[in-house]
Amino acid sequence: MIHAGRRLQAQLVSLSAWRGAQPVTAPLCCAHSSAAAPQDVPLAPLAEADVPIRAELPAATGRIDLILGPMFAGKTSELLRRIQVHEAAGRRVAVVKSDKDDRYHRSRLVTHDGQARECFATATLAQLRERLGAAYHDIDVFAIDEAQFFPDLLAFCTAAADSHAKHLLLAGLDGDFRRQRFGQVLDVLPLADTVTKLAARCAYCGTPALFSLRIAADARQEVVGGADKYAPVCRRHYAALETRLRLGPIPPAPAAGT
Ligand SMILES: [Zn+2]
Repeated sequence: MIHAGRRLQAQLVSLSAWRGAQPVTAPLCCAHSSAAAPQDVPLAPLAEADVPIRAELPAATGRIDLILGPMFAGKTSELLRRIQVHEAAGRRVAVVKSDKDDRYHRSRLVTHDGQARECFATATLAQLRERLGAAYHDIDVFAIDEAQFFPDLLAFCTAAADSHAKHLLLAGLDGDFRRQRFGQVLDVLPLADTVTKLAARCAYCGTPALFSLRIAADARQEVVGGADKYAPVCRRHYAALETRLRLGPIPPAPAAGT
C-alpha cells in the first residue's frame, strides 16, 4: 500500500514533468486568480509549493454570494436578512437596486411582504461607483438586488471582489419567463463563493416553484411587475405554459404548512 503523502508527491512530480508540454489548470483562490489571469503573471510551479509566489497579492480578498430563484421566492427578504447580519457585525453595507425597479418605491428596497430599507437606485454599477466617489473604498459589502438588470454586473463584481476586497451579496433571477439566461447573473456564477437557489410556491398547486410564469401578454424580456404580471410555478405547471389559458385563474395562495 502506497502512503498517501508519497502518492501525492508522485502525482505532483508527474504533473510537473507533464506541464512542460501541456497547459495546466489548477484551482485558485480569489487572490491568486485575479493576480494570474488579467496580467498573465506566472505563478510558482505547482510541484514547488515552497517557492515564494512572485505575483503581488492583495492584502485582503473579496467574496461573492449569489441568491437565485424565481419571482416570489423570498430573494430580497434573504438579502435583507444577510444585510442585517453584516451590519450587526459592524460592516458598512451599500444596498443597491436598479432604477428600473420602481414597483414599490424609487429609492427603497421593498420586499413583496412589505419589509423595506433605503438604498441606492442606479442604472449601472459604474454610475454608482462614480456617484460614491472616494466613499466606495469605505464600503465593505455591496448588497445588490435584481442583479439581472445591471448590464455591467460582471465587470463590477470582478473588480470589486478580486481587486478591492469587497463582499458582494447578489440577489437575482437566474432565468427569465422563458427560462433563458437573464442579464449577466449566470456569468457571475463561476466567480461566486456560494450559490443559494430559493424556490417559491406554485400559484396553482403550492409545491415548490422554480420558474416565473408571465401571465401578462408581453413578449419583451424586461417587464417589471408583480403578481399582476407574474406567477411562480412548478415544473409541471410551467410545462403546461402553452395551454395556460386552460389552467384557469390563479387560486388563492395555499395556507402555510399545507
Ligand atoms: Zn404547480
